[in-house]
Amino acid sequence: MKNLSFYKRFSSSFGEYPSLSRFLVVFAVSGGGLVAYSEANNIQSGATIDELPEAGSEKKRVVVLGTGWAGTSFLKNLKNPSYDVQVISPRNYFAFTPLLPSVTVGTVEARSVVEPIRNIVKKKNLNVNYWEAECYRIDAKNKKVYCRSSQEDKEEFVVDYDYLVIAMGARVNTFNTPGVEENCHYLKEVEDAQKIRRTVIDCFEKASLPTLSDDERKRILQFVVVGGGPTGVEFAAELHDFVSEDLVKLYPSVKDLVKITLLEATDHILNMFDKRITTFAEEKFHRDGIDLRTGAMVVKVSDKEISTKVIKTGEIATIPYGMAVWSTGIATRPVVMDFMKQIGQANRRVLATDEWLRVEGTNSIYALGDCATINQRKVMEDISAIFQKADKDKSGTLTVKEFQEALDDICDRYPQVKLYLNNKQMSSLVDLLKESKGDVSKEAIELNVEEFKSALSHVDSQMKNLPATAQVAAQQGSYLADCFNRMEECTKNPEGPIRFRESGRHRFRPFRYKHLGQFAPLGGEQTAAQLPGDWVSIGHSSQWLWYSVYASKQVSWRTRSLVVSDWMRRFIFGRDSSQI
Ligand code: FAD
Ligand code: MG
Repeated sequence: MKNLSFYKRFSSSFGEYPSLSRFLVVFAVSGGGLVAYSEANNIQSGATIDELPEAGSEKKRVVVLGTGWAGTSFLKNLKNPSYDVQVISPRNYFAFTPLLPSVTVGTVEARSVVEPIRNIVKKKNLNVNYWEAECYRIDAKNKKVYCRSSQEDKEEFVVDYDYLVIAMGARVNTFNTPGVEENCHYLKEVEDAQKIRRTVIDCFEKASLPTLSDDERKRILQFVVVGGGPTGVEFAAELHDFVSEDLVKLYPSVKDLVKITLLEATDHILNMFDKRITTFAEEKFHRDGIDLRTGAMVVKVSDKEISTKVIKTGEIATIPYGMAVWSTGIATRPVVMDFMKQIGQANRRVLATDEWLRVEGTNSIYALGDCATINQRKVMEDISAIFQKADKDKSGTLTVKEFQEALDDICDRYPQVKLYLNNKQMSSLVDLLKESKGDVSKEAIELNVEEFKSALSHVDSQMKNLPATAQVAAQQGSYLADCFNRMEECTKNPEGPIRFRESGRHRFRPFRYKHLGQFAPLGGEQTAAQLPGDWVSIGHSSQWLWYSVYASKQVSWRTRSLVVSDWMRRFIFGRDSSQI
């Protein structure tokens, strides 16, 4: 009783001085672990649907669908108080997905990698409401989104918008492989990671029962990971560490029966990484005893067996398994597919936006993160308009000087031109541009429209889609928030590149992705890092870089301290294998 009233007084005094609580981190030793508590629970309550002002009234309504990397980054960076912001997501928290593989084996606890979205938005001096619901239909014509509550009653409601920000991520892609949905685990959400953790322990307990045959024990302790991308590889490595560092000591009678198999359809794992990293990872897995099977495509999964086809020979092999994790890539959500049909994008696989993240075929809907892809405008589509704009004296030909003067604007609008100029340094066009600078006779060399076209004909081959990563999603979220923050200012004084087909300038500069590098944790306290400029580092030092980058990237001080204390606890006590 006493304790309770002390706690009440304690928390209410911090409720009165919320800024004080922000700096407070109480570490309490609890059950062998460290618990960090950083903020008073002063959650903003959402308005009910009747209280919502209608869209189109004095404040423009921005509806954000999704609280993942893209949506949360948008909300964190939005500063302009002139919007009424409604956030709709079936998940009332942000999840730090790069640490999900660590959650599957308890290196990090699930609650350490999530932050309630209400915690994130309450710190802002903005009018933000959150609804725990999923959007099941977007009506672009009438500017409405149809939502279904995530509660048991599944009540439905409609929200109007002036601007819609679609950031609802993607779903797992099973490639319609029979049996995957029914029998495999995914590793996409926090719940998936928790389920995997329980299943791994369950397999060990089951295999230790006295009633089983050796074959059955072997099958139960056969773990299969499908997909050799960063997530599948990291999970296989984490599982291997869990088994070899913790479980072998607790389950000595079955430890020799454990087998981890990684299946990959292409010839190598970690295809998006430098070859040196791929080779190192493959060799390390070999040394660790992880059974790596490349060139093997899964064709069917039953409750106890996975059938694979060896791509080169067509031979079918079956692998008995106890637990299978499917991690082969992503696909578009049905609600987004339906929306794409409405706006004339039915023939595409992914929702397309322009370089300003605005959905093609709409003017007040934006899409970012895994649910969309930027359809970079091709130079060749606008080549005649570019020529005419650059030809300032309207002579019908372009002098090299005229071309040089227009180049910055062209590169601003079509980044593939810049890539092209950087990549093909010795090509004739670039030579001409470089050599002639300041040389009056060379600057006067003229190109006609056909020569101009042929000079730029290969430029569009430099275009690449951005990867579906947290890095891209977060940068897009902050870019779009910045556009919303300066909407009025930039409408009056556009700052974007000139419009080649029309007059004037674009309101904003287009989105540009800045790649900061990527990690592939390989287990045994070794990580591969590939940083910009093809700088590759593999080993224990990169593991420390990984720890510091992931600690610094946490969304709040609360999760940062939880994650760091989880890592410390793991170093001291190992991972917990309780079946809860
Ligand atoms: P998400 O983060 O998936 O968020 C989507 C949001 O939309 C969620 O809040 C969801 O609840 C909500 N939503 C879903 N349906 C609806 C609906 N109908 N209506 C409203 N809301 C909806 N990327 C990296 O850069 N580095 C890494 O190390 C890395 N590791 C990863 C590890 C794992 C295990 C996984 C799964 C992914 C990893 N990624 C990593 C990829 C990264 O997580 C994604 O690219 C990123 O989450 C995409 O952000 P998003 O906001 O588009 O989607
Ligand atoms: Mg001219």
